[in-house]
Amino acid sequence: MACLFCKIVNGEIPSQMVYEDDLVYAFKDIEPKAPVHILLVPKQHFDGLSAMTESEQALLGHMQLVLSKLAQSHKIDQSGYRVVTNNGQDGGQSVGHLHYHLLGGRSLAWPPG
Ligand code: 5GP
Ligand code: ZN
Repeated sequence: MACLFCKIVNGEIPSQMVYEDDLVYAFKDIEPKAPVHILLVPKQHFDGLSAMTESEQALLGHMQLVLSKLAQSHKIDQSGYRVVTNNGQDGGQSVGHLHYHLLGGRSLAWPPG
């Protein structure tokens, strides 16, 4: 299995896990861009948001709610935070397994570069 995040999900590559359930796995980004920088991935491999279909509607909804709960447990829900998924070349996606970034703990600039 060549995918980096599949290897992280199955433990082949170590990571700092912050949450997991049957469907998703969350871990600290190796190069954090903010005091809180968590990556949330589905345990099943999908290339990115563009690969998702109606069949994954419940999974996508679940991921959004997990992100909100992670923001609460990391105490950035009051100060604010950002959820990002980079998709494809222009989106700056560097790992081809769907993932959401949860960023917070500092003021984040807008628009992104
Ligand atoms: P993308 O650029 O695809 O939106 O995000 C990929 C993210 O994965 C980057 O923020 C990068 O720092 C992170 N990343 C890349 N390799 C690893 C790794 O081996 N472990 C962890 N924890 N994060 C990684
Ligand atoms: Zn994968």
